[in-house]
Amino acid sequence: MTEQETYMAQALALAREAAAAGEVPVGCVIVRGGEIVGRGRNRREEKQSTASHAEMEAIAMANETVGSWRLDDCTLYVTLEPCPMCAGAILNARIPRVYYGARDRAMGACGGVLNLYMEPFALTPALVGGILADECRAVLESFFRSIRADKLP
Ligand SMILES: [Zn+2]
Repeated sequence: MTEQETYMAQALALAREAAAAGEVPVGCVIVRGGEIVGRGRNRREEKQSTASHAEMEAIAMANETVGSWRLDDCTLYVTLEPCPMCAGAILNARIPRVYYGARDRAMGACGGVLNLYMEPFALTPALVGGILADECRAVLESFFRSIRADKLP
């Protein structure tokens, strides 16, 4: 496994935790100097909070761990391409590197629908998609399959 795959596997473990809790399975870790300083998973249902995406949770934890809103020496790994809200939070946190797993053709703001990081903002995070993409997609697909199965009469 590459370093990127190792950290993505950690994010995937959080995504699986989300699925087990009945949440759309998305997980995220934030790494600084070889250490994970933030972990998050989708908790939208649990908290009934629109903003409780994996990246937002991981950024909040990293802010606390690092003791700063500024995460300009951190790298973010997330199993699903960030949405506009999370891509915006990444910009505001000054995170310079983003790795994601599966592409999101419905809500993705890093290439799936549009690419926010191609716009002339003050900061342009380096972006690499497709890390453990098959595994990241499989977790989502099996979650949605099980939901559909539950709804069958
Ligand atoms: Zn999001």
